[in-house]
Amino acid sequence: MSENRDLPTDLGLLKIIERYLVLQLGAVRRQITSVGGTPSDARGGVSEVGRPRPAARAPEWLIQLGIDGERRPVVVHRGGCAAARRATVVPASRRDALEALAAGVESCYACRPDRELQVD
Ligand SMILES: [Zn+2]
Repeated sequence: MSENRDLPTDLGLLKIIERYLVLQLGAVRRQITSVGGTPSDARGGVSEVGRPRPAARAPEWLIQLGIDGERRPVVVHRGGCAAARRATVVPASRRDALEALAAGVESCYACRPDRELQVD
């Protein structure tokens, strides 16, 4: 498709770009909520699969971003992890968390999402 001509063809690079965009989307959604928008505003009222989402609820997984300028994902947490409370985190789906762990992002030592996700 011509709209994809600016994207690389390297799968690894595409996965990195995808991860970055997911993290940015999470940050934008959090900002929408922080300026008074509702979770449905933040998602355009429907989920990616076109169904209305249930009311706002704590994310099941969190991805902590580094404090350096690049804000790379550094640790995966379970939602509600006390160790993530003061960190900069973005909500993540189970798939996001699995992909982050598979990409080498650290599993939180406190909440051990790798055990729940059954990743070594
Ligand atoms: Zn944690």
